[in-house]
Amino acid sequence: MIELKDVTVRYPNGVIGLDGVDLQIPDGQFVVVVGLSGAGKSTLIRTINGLVPVTSGTLTVDDMEVSGASKRELRAIRSKIGMIFQSFNLVKRTSVMNNVIMGQLHDIPWWRSLLGLWSKEEKERGFQSLERVGIVEKAWTRASELSGGQQQRVAIARALAQDPTVMLADEPVASLDPPTAQMVMKDLQRINRDLGITTVVNLHFLDLARAFGDRVIGMRDGKVVFDGTGAEADDAV
Ligand code: ADP
Ligand code: ADP
Repeated sequence: MIELKDVTVRYPNGVIGLDGVDLQIPDGQFVVVVGLSGAGKSTLIRTINGLVPVTSGTLTVDDMEVSGASKRELRAIRSKIGMIFQSFNLVKRTSVMNNVIMGQLHDIPWWRSLLGLWSKEEKERGFQSLERVGIVEKAWTRASELSGGQQQRVAIARALAQDPTVMLADEPVASLDPPTAQMVMKDLQRINRDLGITTVVNLHFLDLARAFGDRVIGMRDGKVVFDGTGAEADDAV
């Protein structure tokens, strides 16, 4: 469960990112967050992940308090959270497998990542994750040789390989063409249903939110202004 109680985030320059947000996301839920640029979607995700500090209020992930957590506690929380970004954030020069395995190891010795000296178990896990997104045949291809949709699938596999309880995706389909965006959303939804990973996806477009959001949260000016089903979301945001 992800729980925010009256969470406000104020950036050092004084801008309000989140403004008194109350939100409960139960285990296993698939939530889509929609809103215009600047609404606070990305701040919400970065706050849940502990990348942006909470100014006031409390935030807990799986009963661990993120607001006020020590560095060590934050590491523990982050190890359970898979992150997916608009720009995929892969290491382009190296293989898909290396990218996926690096995701499950938080403190890898540099020489292991450089040489790709992975254990049998690590590779096994990597293959399993790649199978989930249907690109296991690309395991030894360089990430730079893949299409955008394939790269995002690798990023999903990388997040999965760390065995997360929570998956946070910040505009994961914003740079993909519509059919590819649909496919990536379907991957995320299938993974949510198969593995029960709590999933929060930020989206720009309401049409995708309508199609994929069991629960749609609308944001504006750092506040939650809508919380309901995709079908109800039409005029709300
Ligand atoms: P969204 O993801 O919905 O586009 P953001 O969470 O990125 O919205 O932004 C919410 C508000 O916080 C905006 O006013 C934005 O300008 C501001 N903001 C975001 N990141 C920072 C930052 N690092 N420093 C200062 N202000 C920021
Ligand atoms: P580069 O030319 O950048 O080394 P490669 O595609 O040759 O890229 O390999 C990328 C990484 O994947 C390397 O670390 C390599 O050791 C590893 N690798 C490539 N093929 C295999 C394979 N069949 N089994 C195990 N590791 C492999």
